[in-house]
Amino acid sequence: MLSEIEAVEDLARRNPDIPFEAIVKEDLLRRGMAWSPEALAVAAEFKRKSYFIFSFDMAPISGMGQGENLKVPEEVRLSGGPHAFKPVVVSVRINPDSPYRVEAGEGGLSLELAGAAVAGVELQKTPGYYRKALSGGRPVSEVVPTIEWGYLLYLTAFRLCQYPAAGEGCLYCDINENYRQQKDAGRPCAPVKTVDEMLEALEVIAETEDGEGGDAGKSKAYTVTGGSVTGTLQGLTEADFYLRYPEAIERRWPGRWISKVVVEALPKDEVRRFRDAGVRIYHPNFEIWDKRLFEAYCPGKARHVGRDEWLRRIVDAAEVFGPENVIPNFVAGVEMAPPGGFATVEDAIASTSEGLEFFMSRGISPRFTSWCPEPLSALGKARRGAPLEYYVRLLRVYRDTRAKYRLASPCGYGEPGLGRAVFSVSSFMDVLPPEPAPHA
Ligand code: SF4
Repeated sequence: MLSEIEAVEDLARRNPDIPFEAIVKEDLLRRGMAWSPEALAVAAEFKRKSYFIFSFDMAPISGMGQGENLKVPEEVRLSGGPHAFKPVVVSVRINPDSPYRVEAGEGGLSLELAGAAVAGVELQKTPGYYRKALSGGRPVSEVVPTIEWGYLLYLTAFRLCQYPAAGEGCLYCDINENYRQQKDAGRPCAPVKTVDEMLEALEVIAETEDGEGGDAGKSKAYTVTGGSVTGTLQGLTEADFYLRYPEAIERRWPGRWISKVVVEALPKDEVRRFRDAGVRIYHPNFEIWDKRLFEAYCPGKARHVGRDEWLRRIVDAAEVFGPENVIPNFVAGVEMAPPGGFATVEDAIASTSEGLEFFMSRGISPRFTSWCPEPLSALGKARRGAPLEYYVRLLRVYRDTRAKYRLASPCGYGEPGLGRAVFSVSSFMDVLPPEPAPHA
């Protein structure tokens, strides 16, 4: 019987083309991490987790005995240690029962797996603007937090989704439940962030970053996102509601950041309006490739738009934005979620590979968020992610399919490559070859 660390090392030995760091990162994303009281005390001095849209935790706040939701950092950067890690940035997913645990010692913070040392842990300094507030009193970090080690400004315009409200939410998603628990826990969040609030927060960020001088550590991109609007919100359709944000930002700071928008797969004429407003990257997230699972696990998307139409619209959007700028997300691993998911890694990889082929052969550039089994979502109650071997094989097929179609690394994700990548909720950027990224 192998110990926990031996099992991960054994998998890494059998897959020498996938870096050990990326394998550990995926294991952390699917199992979460616990924190010792001493490590939490250290973390409290650094940039904290902002709960910018979903919980991305494997325990509800009510199940966190140490108030971890108020103390953990947004991300950790693993480096050094017995395996000589090159730096990898990992999103913090709280799970008090995880075998992965962050400990504090004389040499600083470190990550252990069932007591075995894995790597050193670095934390990100709190950016200056995280200590500032808007004129109305709301913290800047609540309106525009940053993730990916400061690379990405995350602009959740609408913190709820109308699908779950109608009983048709995606089964892996806890957006509305997370909003409720954050509100109950006293976080100063509101369902809708106004355009004026966003602009005011960005003004503070731009001034603070410019004042700090130099380019290092500056945010490079923003994502406008939020839940789906199936009817209207404030009297506006989904396209009309979300379009106002990039329009206003690009009018005020044309091209300062790489502009990204996550909205539904919209008809071509509506997609053009986003491009004309200055949006560079369009994320019509596809979530799950398999038709049966898409319909079962994304019932709202299936009923309101339909899988075939969703696909057609993604292909149409490639004509508007250029295929490399259309980046549909997959929730990696959810296709193995019980009760309906694939029973074997083989079948799951075969299905998702078909989706990668479909998109990449057209120059479209899908990407992943590794599934976090959130207990406040329908599929997360069992708190069991996909097997680690699934993620290893997924990273390989992703990297190799990109190479087959000679696709450059995706725009708006920072630099690719182990030791350089900052994308924190999947290792897909860590396994791509390091290359000059003029469009990073
Ligand atoms: S569309 Fe689905 S994944 Fe997106 S916020 Fe709504 S329920 Fe969640």
